[in-house]
Amino acid sequence: MKKDEDCIFCKIIDGKIPSAKIYEDEKVLAFLDIMPINKGHTLVVPKNHSKNLLEDDDKDISACMKAVKKVANAVMKATNAQGFNMGVNTEKAAGQAVFHTHFHVIPRFENDGLHHWPGGKYQDGEMEKVRQSIASRVGK
Ligand code: 5GP
Ligand code: ZN
Repeated sequence: MKKDEDCIFCKIIDGKIPSAKIYEDEKVLAFLDIMPINKGHTLVVPKNHSKNLLEDDDKDISACMKAVKKVANAVMKATNAQGFNMGVNTEKAAGQAVFHTHFHVIPRFENDGLHHWPGGKYQDGEMEKVRQSIASRVGK
C-alpha cells in the first residue's frame, strides 16, 4: 500500500486516527465525513495513497466506484434519502482540502435547501471550439 505519513486519510486507514467506519474491503475504506453536508455524508477512499483522482490507479478507482454504489445504497436506505450526490473535488480551485483521493457520497432530500450550481451559456460557435479542444486531448 502506498502511504503518505503526513496524510490524514492515510492515518485514518492505518487506524492511527479514529473514524466512523461504514465499509471496508481490500482496496477501499468508507467512513462518515466529520462535517456532514447532510447526516450520513460518507467518504469513500482508496487505501493506496494518491493525491487526487487524476493520479489514482485505475484499479483503485474501479474499486472505489463499486464501493460508492454499495455505500450509497446503504446511506439512502438508512437516512431515507430520496437521492444522493457523488462529489470529487480535484485540486484547490475545485475545493479539495484533503489531498488523498476521496469520493463524497451525500444523501439528498427534497427541499433540503442545498442548491445546484448555476448553468452558464456558450456564445455562437464557442461550444464547438471547446468541444474540439477537449476531445483532441482525451487520453493524451
Ligand atoms: P474535500 O474538500 O477535500 O473534498 O473534502 C474533505 C472532507 O474531509 C471534508 O468534507 C471534511 O469534512 C472531511 N474531513 C477532514 N478531516 C477529517 C477527519 O479527520 N475525519 C473525517 N471523518 N473527515 C474529515
Ligand atoms: Zn493518504
